[in-house]
Amino acid sequence: MSKFDYDLLTIGAGSGGVRASRLSSGFGARVGIVENSRIGGTCVMRGCVPKKLLVYGSHFAHDFEDAKGFGWQLDEPKINYSKLISDKNTELDRLENVYGRILRENGVSHLEGIGRVTGPNTVEVTGADGTKEYSAEKILVTTGGWPHLPQVPGVEYAITSNEALELETLPKHIVIVGGGYIAVEFAGMFNALGVKVTIIIRAGNILRGFDEDVRDTLAEEMEKSGIIINRECVVRGIEETADGYSLRLHGTETIECDKVMYATGRKPNTFGLGLVEAGVELDEGGAVKVDKNYQTSVPSIFALGDVTNRINLTPVAINEGIAFANSQFNQNPMVMDYNAVPAAVFSQPPVGTVGLSEQQARENGEVDIYMSRFRPMKHTLSGRDAHSMMKLVVMRESGKVVGCHMVGDDAPEIIQGFAVAIKAGATKAQFDATVGVHPTAAEEFVTMREKLPDHGH
Ligand code: NDP
Repeated sequence: MSKFDYDLLTIGAGSGGVRASRLSSGFGARVGIVENSRIGGTCVMRGCVPKKLLVYGSHFAHDFEDAKGFGWQLDEPKINYSKLISDKNTELDRLENVYGRILRENGVSHLEGIGRVTGPNTVEVTGADGTKEYSAEKILVTTGGWPHLPQVPGVEYAITSNEALELETLPKHIVIVGGGYIAVEFAGMFNALGVKVTIIIRAGNILRGFDEDVRDTLAEEMEKSGIIINRECVVRGIEETADGYSLRLHGTETIECDKVMYATGRKPNTFGLGLVEAGVELDEGGAVKVDKNYQTSVPSIFALGDVTNRINLTPVAINEGIAFANSQFNQNPMVMDYNAVPAAVFSQPPVGTVGLSEQQARENGEVDIYMSRFRPMKHTLSGRDAHSMMKLVVMRESGKVVGCHMVGDDAPEIIQGFAVAIKAGATKAQFDATVGVHPTAAEEFVTMREKLPDHGH
């Protein structure tokens, strides 16, 4: 009989924590999971899932407009936004129950309350019934991240993505500070719903780190759809006015709006967790430092997912959870391969990307670039002024396709399949030997024959 209450105590029931816990339990471990908020974590409760439902909801506005070009006669369609929010919340309740059931059916105990590490093998849980300490052979920290706002006078007036998903009514003009994933996704959603959207970015372009052609194309398409992008611009302060807020920019320049949203990145949730006191090393940004087995500087304490601030994506946390459970409780050591992790941005139009950007690939040797910009067939009749961009980055010597990028309708769906090819090390010759599916946008990826002669990036 083990001297510990649990073999594994997980703190945080998000995507990574739930997967690691239920698999470990399935492998025979006695597992408890501590969660103070809703089971499901950021992705299910405050991120990917509600965001995508609202993106779907908003996209109908484009679909109704486009339908007119195909002969449809529609009365002015109107959205009941509070109904969309309420239906979205019903779906989140359903998913929370599903997650709770999955944990129960897999024999994982849910310890409701705030968890704090009190030693290498102990966790204190403070819940409605007071504080209780539990012991565990292994502790797994999967507490995720939280929106981080810079210190600007009046920033307390701003909302984050958490509140933006809960608005009961739509603002007239929203200013979104930041140009990352969250900023461009919410900008697209609000814009489609008829809200005036201004993005403020401190840099020269949105989506730092993405391929330059992806950044340029998306920015151009967003601007064509009416989103204002205010580049190289810094907010100095926010004041409340009779009608909303006034943002002070350079000198005397101001922007008036009725909602301010900050999407300026997320910070790992390690504050007050007792990790430093227990001897766990954090990096300068507060992320838990781990090795390839998710082990921290304290051998019995592990961490994975956004709290380690590496690739902050749900499927990465899930795969890390699978590797952790197999390695620790199934005598099946697994090390995750972080190469060619695909990603999507649910902007309008969306982005799908896998592998290296042109700029990253050039650091490894000579590259050939294949690119296609075109007006999707649908918009020849819809009349929408929208263009797609697809790009392959190929290493000249090996012929391997190391990057595959798309901005345009269905890009996230299309890129998943090509991610398999990139992961398998496919060459451009193999792309060329693949027959296209016609008529689709996706076929462009296997029919690009001309190298770009002289490319600006
Ligand atoms: P990101 O890191 O993607 O972007 C942060 C943005 O905020 C950047 O444009 C950055 O500018 C800007 N910024 C940072 N600090 C400041 C500051 N002090 N003043 C002004 N601007 C600032 O963060 P997000 O919040 O958008 O998203 C967090 C993470 O969540 C993402 O990185 C991603 O991992 C994940 N996510 C994934 C999604 C998906 O898979 N579809 C969707 C949503 C989130 P600069 O470019 O100059 O650094």
